[in-house]
Amino acid sequence: MDFDGCEHVFKIILIGDGGVGKSCLMLRFTEDSFPTTYMSTVGVDFKVTTIEVDGIRSKLQIWDTAGQERFKTITRNYYKGVHGAMLLFDVTDEKSFENTSEWLKEVSNYADLNLKKILIGNKIDLESKRAVTKEQGQQFAKELGVDYYETSALERIGIQEVFRDLTKLMIKQKEIDQT
Ligand code: GDP
Ligand code: MG
Repeated sequence: MDFDGCEHVFKIILIGDGGVGKSCLMLRFTEDSFPTTYMSTVGVDFKVTTIEVDGIRSKLQIWDTAGQERFKTITRNYYKGVHGAMLLFDVTDEKSFENTSEWLKEVSNYADLNLKKILIGNKIDLESKRAVTKEQGQQFAKELGVDYYETSALERIGIQEVFRDLTKLMIKQKEIDQT
């Protein structure tokens, strides 16, 4: 991938149970759209977009599991060269929150140790169906030593923030790696 005038190029992966909103979050960020018809995969492996943070432009290659999460067949290739991971769960689905531990095991098996991670509780527009509280999310993130965010891909809440803050973390890590 060439730099296109960007200072940095980062590979980001979206992980978490099927149905938590990974594809919708990616589409909301890259195209500002939300699919209205059912879509189990986005049909592509990744999307490339740019983001400007503190006046510095970075190119982001964002990988989506394209439905493979149901079969747990994510391989080494998916994790290869990854700089950042967004670990998603659905705040209305307790099981998806519990399963984040399983996803973290996979991350530690395959990804680089310097990988930057953030935890995201998605679908906060469904407040009346909420099954995982903000405090639970924050507490778990604290134990992991990562930041916690809440988003709604549907209602465009918190989307810019998660990509911006993960990019900041990846830039910082790159600076550490280079010194
Ligand atoms: P993935 O399997 O993790 O990629 O999940 P998808 O992005 O395909 O989304 C799964 C389902 O959740 C779809 O029916 C989406 O419309 C819905 N969804 C995704 N994000 C949100 C959200 O923020 N709010 C609500 N209410 N529904 C969402
Ligand atoms: Mg998907």
